[in-house]
Amino acid sequence: MPETPPDAAARRAAPPVICYPPDTLPAPDLALYARARDGAAKTAELLVPPRAARCFRVAAGQVLRISCPDGSQVGDLNLWAADDLSERFYSGKTRALHGTHLGVGDRLWSCLPFLRPMATIIADSLGWYGVDADGAGVHDVIGTRCDPYTNALLTGGQYHHHCHSNLVRALAAETGLTPDAAEPHVHDVLNLFMCTGFTRDSQRYFTKASPARAGDHVEVFAEIDLLGALSACPWGDCGTNSPMTATCHPLLVEILAPAPGALAGWRPPEPAPYDRSHGL
Ligand SMILES: [Zn+2]
Repeated sequence: MPETPPDAAARRAAPPVICYPPDTLPAPDLALYARARDGAAKTAELLVPPRAARCFRVAAGQVLRISCPDGSQVGDLNLWAADDLSERFYSGKTRALHGTHLGVGDRLWSCLPFLRPMATIIADSLGWYGVDADGAGVHDVIGTRCDPYTNALLTGGQYHHHCHSNLVRALAAETGLTPDAAEPHVHDVLNLFMCTGFTRDSQRYFTKASPARAGDHVEVFAEIDLLGALSACPWGDCGTNSPMTATCHPLLVEILAPAPGALAGWRPPEPAPYDRSHGL
């Protein structure tokens, strides 16, 4: 342990500086989205079975609704631009821009060199949860996705229904790619309904049983044409530390289309306006 300097207290007292103050971000027109949602009609739905994933497509301007129809269940969400798998959800920058857990008004941003809102959260039945006494919140963008490589490293076991593998199988089935070709497109997720935080003493990542119950839901406005994949995590509500013993439930995906004209004047966002010359 290095010696503590005499001015340690002063160094630690430097004030935190918010890296990306919320008022610097382009604000979504939530009133417009709410009006569009009010008149929207369901065009498709699918059930994601426990310990599996399914793909779906959402056109720009449509609403993606994800819910727990039968009981508490964490969902690991991947998003890509519908016509370009190289543009995909960027969990790390979304976390940096909005915080460790997402709610209404937060955007799901795409990776570089695009960096535009792929979607905006417009409804969240768990919006009441806030930050609990353990410092935890819901709809996590801290975690990555459960995967068989970490599992094999830590336990030596071979388990094939981690969210990573579920998403690989779903993307391969949707696109016709081989599993090997599909795997690199699977990326860090939005952990819907997952309740997580960092311990105060060691700042280690922790999970606790999701507060979601049957009927809880999130609604997301698609800012661009999307291909999505959702995995019903084998950890269920993530209240235990074993996928073998967790109680798992399905997740319901519904797509809703606003009434014609409801989004008059609205356009999908353009990529961030950097000229990409990188100083050359
Ligand atoms: Zn998982």
